Amino acid sequence: MLLIAAQRPDATRVAGIRTWNGLNRHVVKGEHGIAILAPCVYRSRDEVPPEADVREAVAPARPGDEEPLRRRELQGFRVVHVFDVTQTDGAPLPSVQPQLLAGQAPREVWDGLATLTTSAGYRLERRTCPTGVNGWTAPEDRLVVVAEDLEPAQATKTLAHELGHIRANHARRFPDYGIDRTCRGAAEVEAESIAYIVTSHLGMNPAAYSVPYIAGWAEDLDVLRHHMSTVVTVAQELLEGLDHVSERAPRSGPSPERTVPVNAPTPAQHMPAPGALLQQEK
Ligand SMILES: [Zn+2]
Repeated sequence: MLLIAAQRPDATRVAGIRTWNGLNRHVVKGEHGIAILAPCVYRSRDEVPPEADVREAVAPARPGDEEPLRRRELQGFRVVHVFDVTQTDGAPLPSVQPQLLAGQAPREVWDGLATLTTSAGYRLERRTCPTGVNGWTAPEDRLVVVAEDLEPAQATKTLAHELGHIRANHARRFPDYGIDRTCRGAAEVEAESIAYIVTSHLGMNPAAYSVPYIAGWAEDLDVLRHHMSTVVTVAQELLEGLDHVSERAPRSGPSPERTVPVNAPTPAQHMPAPGALLQQEK
């Protein structure tokens, strides 16, 4: 994000050439790509935690158990080129509202995030939430809620977001969160950026939700610039924490599965506004 801001301060929506082509848009001839650093990750087949095999052997596969979580090691960064929307031409852009993530997520990611939430001193509950609210964190009650009607992918991403609020210490750093839109925006940008990095790094694809969500709260690029070092530090700590807990025994607790019927109405999507304490993703 910093590199994009440096090279094209007016950039709003950027993507690689294949993504643009997939949206039936093409890069205008003569435009130069924006160089960014993309993480290089490799997955090791040899490093499957042994307990993953045990779990598979003793329990029938659940829908969330797509495959054992393989360790993904961050090896460094490589330069790739992306283009801003203004450098492209073609079909109109699809909606830029956050799209709820559908489908499964690696069960180990949910379990790891749940363990880290509990070890931070918070209770984790799946509950009915008001329409459009995916979850919230109530620091005074030491409670994290994830809406019960979310599919596992969105539920897992939402839990990572709430844990981002907790680990980035938002209750203390942004005491005016509930009444000041700038504070709220900074906290939401940090929490969702943390969730984006952590869940992408673990093999999920949260962009359809996270990118519009972050863009909606980051009123200008200064918000992103000022908060990126915190985001990277907290995301790194969370990934290390997840690595650590994944080496231990599987634990019980709320599940990432939907707890209401699949054909229940989906919460409407609209952008959040300042409101209840550390409430997210309305
Ligand atoms: Zn939030």
